[in-house]
Parts: sequence; C-alpha cells; structure tokens
Amino acid sequence: MLTRLTVPTRRREVLEDVTERVVEVLRSSGVQEGVCYVICPHTTAGVTINEAADPAVATDILSYLAELIPHQGEWLHGEGNSDAHIKAAMFGHSVVVPIEDGDLVLGTWQGIYLAEFDGPRARTVLVKIMAG
Ligand code: ZN
Repeated sequence: MLTRLTVPTRRREVLEDVTERVVEVLRSSGVQEGVCYVICPHTTAGVTINEAADPAVATDILSYLAELIPHQGEWLHGEGNSDAHIKAAMFGHSVVVPIEDGDLVLGTWQGIYLAEFDGPRARTVLVKIMAG
C-alpha cells in the first residue's frame, strides 16, 4: 500500500512536521513490525528527520542554509530556484523509520519533516509501510 499525503507548505522555505500524519497512516495499516519509508517526489523539496521539540532548531537550519546557498546567485538554471534544487539534493528525497509494536521508532526529540525550499505550494509526501 502506498499512501499519498498532500502537505500544504506555508512559506518559500519551511520545515513542515509530518510525523503525526505518518503515524496515522501506520495506525490505519495495522502493521506491527516492519519499516516505514517516507518519500518526497519533488526536486525542490526533500525529507529529513531532526529535532521536533524546539522549533528554533528548524529556524536555525533554514537560516544557515540560506546563508550558505543564497536564493539570488550566479546560477545557470533559468527557473530562478537553483538554491532550492541544491538544498533538496543535500537533504535527500527519503527517510526510513523502523516500526516496532505498531509505532514508529524515533528518538525522543526526532520528528519527520517535509523540507520545503520553493514554496508555498501543495506538496506530495509518499508513505510506504512494509511489514516484516
Ligand atoms: Zn528549477
């Protein structure tokens, strides 16, 4: 079963916490043991796992990336969003989380984020639950 979540993003660059939505997909699957893949089928957004307790962490990550990879630059790509492609490439398009006793196995402070770098827009996040 492949579930497609629609995730509206609020700003050009934002980390949207999708953990609870992924947990809902897992719960409705009934799978107790296995792995959960969270996949982003976009070229200017990615997925990552990082701290979900203090929102300042997400802000720091985005601020540092903006300094490192400016929106306006000497880019060749004509769409004006080369910075977003580079950031998405750095983050990667998927994460995998183990499933144990019907729950995601995440660290205490971890959350799953859709990392938007060229919003706001409606993004798709794919969730694949594999029993085993
Ligand atoms: Zn582009």
